Amino acid sequence: MTDAAAAAARLRMQDPRKQYPQPPFPKQPQGAPGLARAMDPKPDHGETSYKGYGRLQGRKALVTGADSGIGRAAAIAFAREGADVALSYLADEQADAQEVQAVIEADGRKCILLPGDIKDESWCGELVARAVSGLGGLDILVNNAGKQVNQPDVQDITTEQFDQTMKTNLYAMFWITKAALQHMPPGAAIINTASVQGFSPSEGLLDYATTKAGILAFTKALAKQQIERGIRVNAVAPGPFWTALQPSGGQTQEKLETFGSAVPLGRPGQPVELAPVYVFLASQEASYVTGETYAATGGKGTA
Ligand code: NAD
Ligand code: MG
Repeated sequence: MTDAAAAAARLRMQDPRKQYPQPPFPKQPQGAPGLARAMDPKPDHGETSYKGYGRLQGRKALVTGADSGIGRAAAIAFAREGADVALSYLADEQADAQEVQAVIEADGRKCILLPGDIKDESWCGELVARAVSGLGGLDILVNNAGKQVNQPDVQDITTEQFDQTMKTNLYAMFWITKAALQHMPPGAAIINTASVQGFSPSEGLLDYATTKAGILAFTKALAKQQIERGIRVNAVAPGPFWTALQPSGGQTQEKLETFGSAVPLGRPGQPVELAPVYVFLASQEASYVTGETYAATGGKGTA
C-alpha cells in the first residue's frame, strides 16, 4: 500500500543526486538470477513510495522478470494505477515473486504468479495463455526479463552463455510477443526493456549489448507493423539501475562497489524511478507515442 509519507518524500523537490543511495556499495555476490530481498541496500521498487492516479484502470498486464528490479517496479505501479497483473519469473525467484504478489493484492488488484523458463518456446506460449485466461484478456505486455553475464574477452564467452543470452533476451521476446498479439485489442501497448548498452556497449557485455541493440530494432519494426492494428510498441533504455541482475554476475564485484559512479548523477537509479516511464508508455496518455525509446541514463546519454 502507498505510504503517504514515503510517496511525499519521493515527490518532494530535491537534488536527485542525493535522493537515493550512492556508491560505494558492499560486495555481495549472489548466484544468477539473484534475489532483490538479499541486496544491500534494498532497492526501492515503489512498494510504499509509488502513488497511482487510476491511469490504467481495469487493464490486464503481463510483465516478465516481474519478481524483482525494473519489472517489479513496473508491476507494482501498474497495479496501483488500477491494473491486474500476471508475473513471469524463474522458479528460483518464488520468494521475491510472493513479496510482489502480497503488495499487489494489498492494493486490491489481482496478481497471478507464472514461474517458468522463457528460454523454452512452449513455455512462452503457455505463459501467455495462462495470463490471458487468468486475467480475462491482455492489454499490456512488458518484455523485461533479461540475462547479463560480464566477461572481459570474447574468448571467455562460451557458446552456452551466448545461446542463453540470445534465448532469454531476444527469442523469448519474439515468442511471447507473437503469442500475446493474438489477444491484444486496439489501444493495447507493448514495452520492451532495452538498455543504454544497445547504443553504447561496454567491452565486458558483448553478447548482452548485442541483444539490446536487437531489442531496439525489433521495437521499431514491430511498432510500424502493429499500429495497423492500433497497438503501440515502445522501448525503455535504462542506464545503471540497482537490481539483482548486477550482484549476480551482471557486474564484477569490483565494479559493483562503484556502480553508478560513472554517470553524471553519481549513483545508480532505483527501480521506482523507472515506474512512471512504464506507466506512461502503457497508458492512453502516450496515445501518440510509438516506435520510440525512452532513455533514463543518469545523465550519461545514449551516444
Ligand atoms: P532483475 O534481475 O531484477 O530482473 C531480471 C529478471 O529476468 C529476473 O528477475 C528473472 O525473473 C528474469 N529472467 C531471467 N532469465 C529468465 C528466464 N530464463 N526465464 C524467465 N525469467 C527470466 O534485473 P533488472 O535489472 O531489473 O532487469 C530487468 C531488465 O532491465 C533486463 O532486461 C535488463 O537487461 C534491463 N536493464 C537493466 C539495467 C540495470 O542496470 N539493472 C540496465 C539496463 C537494462
Ligand atoms: Mg529476479
